[in-house]
Amino acid sequence: MTEIGLGIPSAPPPVLAPRRKTRQIMVGNVGVGSDHPISVQSMCTTKTHDINATLQQIAQLTASGCDIVRVACPRQEDADALSAIAKKSQIPVIADIHFQPKYIFAAIDAGCAAVRVNPGNIKEFDGRVKEVAKAAGAAGIPIRIGVNAGSLDKRLMDKYGKATPEALVESALWEASLFEEHGFGDIKISVKHNDPVVMVEAYRQLAAQCDYPLHLGVTEAGPAFQGTIKSAVAFGSLLADGIGDTIRVSLSAPPAEEIKVGDAILQSLNLRPRKLEIVSCPSCGRAQVDVYKLADEVSAGLEGMEIPLRVAVMGCVVNGPGEARDADLGVASGNGKGQIFVKGEVIKTVPEAQIVETLITEALRIAEESGDTGGGAPVVSVG
Ligand code: SF4
Repeated sequence: MTEIGLGIPSAPPPVLAPRRKTRQIMVGNVGVGSDHPISVQSMCTTKTHDINATLQQIAQLTASGCDIVRVACPRQEDADALSAIAKKSQIPVIADIHFQPKYIFAAIDAGCAAVRVNPGNIKEFDGRVKEVAKAAGAAGIPIRIGVNAGSLDKRLMDKYGKATPEALVESALWEASLFEEHGFGDIKISVKHNDPVVMVEAYRQLAAQCDYPLHLGVTEAGPAFQGTIKSAVAFGSLLADGIGDTIRVSLSAPPAEEIKVGDAILQSLNLRPRKLEIVSCPSCGRAQVDVYKLADEVSAGLEGMEIPLRVAVMGCVVNGPGEARDADLGVASGNGKGQIFVKGEVIKTVPEAQIVETLITEALRIAEESGDTGGGAPVVSVG
């Protein structure tokens, strides 16, 4: 049997721009900065004081590929839970602190991997930066300065009238300068806005003015569809220019969905190795099979595929053979039959009813033959 070469490139796949050079920080065991891969984050929706529920959600996020997780810490009971959560989580836990500076110290003592502070929302924060810098520095814990359009500090709202890119950037760099005055530079920054245009401009300005690693986010991006589009457009614009070191997609949807979207955004720009990619046509009047159904069934059958595999599902012979040939695996349909391609070669022709099962069988075979490609056995669920 001929050996099948998958879509595993021998050289790194092309990217649109080199990463912007930043200083490096460590969030637990995850490096953030231009020397490290771009990480994907999410935030728990559970009450942090409900330790079991929070750990369960963190486990789900970990299984989805989340690199770093954030938990809210609005009350003392949440601060009290941080230690147990940070100890048991398999991924670094960041405590998200608004309003009460005392929880920053609680999070540092609890062993959190980092603390996110929102300068606009923490009472008398500027006056306590020295203490925070000292405690975080002693513990080796980075701080994210997370400026948010919805909670910009009053001084800047008065100065700019609204949360403009300049206002967001000034807020973040002012806060960072206070930390720097106390010798603390273990910082990453976010300047989030719900409007991708303002957000992109803010990050561009920020990137031009500092070398801190940047956490990208479109805040309150909306329900899954709208939030996915806004995040993909905004992150895509910045990442295409090499800006962004860690990302969080904010969706009004379960957090694991955010990881899927973040992962797909990075994969689409070659900033993460691609895994399963379905190349399917939109169908048209020439289609000789139900392309939507076929693409859905193949996607469902191959969900969880952990090896890079491009599968083409094409409705007719116009572009079908060409796309199917370029893919690792593909079908070009016509006359109630499907020509099955593996790496450009037609290996068989099957009746329409057998297309899905044939593709899945071939994908499993390919996965088996590439057993050592992904640091673990390939997983393919057939269903
Ligand atoms: S591959 Fe064929 S069916 Fe699909 S969009 Fe192109 S022409 Fe239409």
